[in-house]
Amino acid sequence: MIFIKKEIYKKIIKIIKKYDSIVIARHIGPDPDAIASQISLRDSIRLTYPSKKVYAIGAGVNKFRYLGFLDKIDSMELNNPLLILLDVPNFIRVDGIEDLNYAAILKIDHHPSEDIKGTVDWTDTTKSSTCEMIAELILNTNLLMDQKIAENLYTGIVFDSDRFLLQNTSLETFNIVYQLLNVSKINFVALYDNLYDRSINEEKFRAYITNNLEISANKMGFIYVTNETLSKYKVEGVAVSNQVNNFYFINELICWMFVVYDEKNEIFKVNIRSRGPIINTIANNYNGGGHKYASGARIKDFKDVELLRKDLDIACEEYLKEQEN
Ligand code: AMP
Repeated sequence: MIFIKKEIYKKIIKIIKKYDSIVIARHIGPDPDAIASQISLRDSIRLTYPSKKVYAIGAGVNKFRYLGFLDKIDSMELNNPLLILLDVPNFIRVDGIEDLNYAAILKIDHHPSEDIKGTVDWTDTTKSSTCEMIAELILNTNLLMDQKIAENLYTGIVFDSDRFLLQNTSLETFNIVYQLLNVSKINFVALYDNLYDRSINEEKFRAYITNNLEISANKMGFIYVTNETLSKYKVEGVAVSNQVNNFYFINELICWMFVVYDEKNEIFKVNIRSRGPIINTIANNYNGGGHKYASGARIKDFKDVELLRKDLDIACEEYLKEQEN
């Protein structure tokens, strides 16, 4: 096992060394793991190989600006760069590579594999986060790390594992975090101010969800948040996804689905979480996907939202029956 890991580190360093220009991209609608992994890998490559041109691309998110700035590139000017794809398994969800002609792909991801196959490919669904993988890579190779890189990696791991609370947290996660903190000596407690900073409106909105969540006999929770409700609570659509991780460990819930309408893209955005049935295989049927117990979907027609809700409810019913036996 350790031997196999060493091989992948070597392959990754070799392909990074080979290219003078490198573009690092991740999924649309990025979370702190996606942005922190790309910024920390970019900064580490820049620190280690100052002559290389390295860019972290994709739409920025105001709320996550504390992680650092993203780059704007002129795709036409780049001469067949190496494309590094982080935290994303499918081309359709990669942000910002439409006009890019790249020579090869290095993929590093913890989602189940889909259509992206890297020239060098490190896909490992046992990892808590892409940041855990980048931290492991830096800690085991010649790649350099400074304080900001360590802070970003820690933030991404804490976010995606939800403070080491979710099932994706492993002994290896703690091992990597221990090494990361030991080497960097960062003040990790101070980082929670950025990560968990929120307005009282968001807390009131959380109460709205709690009070209005419809819970089925099969312990399946559902809420469709209208744009009027968002306006009433003075929050944006992203507040819905921000809340989905706050509903773990509630007796009456084993799966929950939050829906909001994205007017700009004319699509229903769905966040699903489970601590019962596997949900990504169900989300796959509705233009969605993700992890076994944390998935999402983008749905055009509300009828499909209702069908997805029904499928999840059936999965909950089957899961509960299995538990009884
Ligand atoms: P979220 O609920 O947005 O935090 O997403 C949970 C997981 O599902 C993440 O790993 C996302 O990358 C994945 N995901 C969300 N939406 C989609 C989608 N439309 N297609 C595939 N995967 C998705």
